[in-house]
Amino acid sequence: MAGEQRAQDDKRKALERPSPPAAAAPGRPPVKPSPATARADDPFPTIAPGTLNPVPPQPPRRRPGKPRTEPPRYRCLRCGYLLADTTVERCSECGWQIDPERLADWYLGDEEQRFARAVWFVLACLFTHLLALLPPLCLPARVATAFLVAWAGVVGRSGKQGSVGSYYGIAAMVAGGIMLLMAAAASSLTFYTADAIGGCLVLLTMLHDANGTPLGVARGSRMAALALLFVTPAIAVACYTLESAAPPAGWTSLFPAPYTPFGFVAPGVLAVGVWAFAWRTLAGVQHILFRQQDL
Ligand SMILES: [Zn+2]
Repeated sequence: MAGEQRAQDDKRKALERPSPPAAAAPGRPPVKPSPATARADDPFPTIAPGTLNPVPPQPPRRRPGKPRTEPPRYRCLRCGYLLADTTVERCSECGWQIDPERLADWYLGDEEQRFARAVWFVLACLFTHLLALLPPLCLPARVATAFLVAWAGVVGRSGKQGSVGSYYGIAAMVAGGIMLLMAAAASSLTFYTADAIGGCLVLLTMLHDANGTPLGVARGSRMAALALLFVTPAIAVACYTLESAAPPAGWTSLFPAPYTPFGFVAPGVLAVGVWAFAWRTLAGVQHILFRQQDL
């Protein structure tokens, strides 16, 4: 019984087996089967590794905040000019002596990602400044601003340990701590002063590379940030003096209690101005060095 069943199975398999390819006609060379034909005829084709359900190659896609997946377009770190040939000694536009190690730091490291993060941090800071104008949201918005300033210092100084940029980053973190302590103070003068100083420090942290060398392409903004860093305490002292003096008649009704002209408005405008300046500078450097597509 078992032998009969086995014979029937063998007969059925023989019927299901594909017929062998037709022999070549006499006088004609045998036709070499194409790979597709060979796979169709071979019941157990050999599958090369990686050919089963192959994934089609995807074009490189760049997103802000992600490491670049395409060859970088090196630009002069002093003037932003596109360096088509990095083997030459100097930038043909401004004469900057090309430093391959610095270019590698800026274009093969995570500087593009760092700038993308910093721009978002600064935009978030500007947003929390707006929220702080609403009395119910003032305290949480100020606490959020303080954390953003401290975190921007952490992001800005990462990988720059022992250099000038690192020290500016630590100072920005301290400024964020002072802001946190003064978030609930009756007068906003100290908070906004630390706020403006923190904005200058975050900007200076970002405009120095890991070797402590300042970025030449934003030289003017760096000098302005340094000047603001020293002018802001003087402005704060002037505001404190004017705030302590008797207000002119009518000012109390024009500027009600927490929104005094020299305890809130002037330092607040200064702080928002500093952060707007920081955003403009960082976004400009990001565009010049990493996103510019011309020439
Ligand atoms: Zn140049």
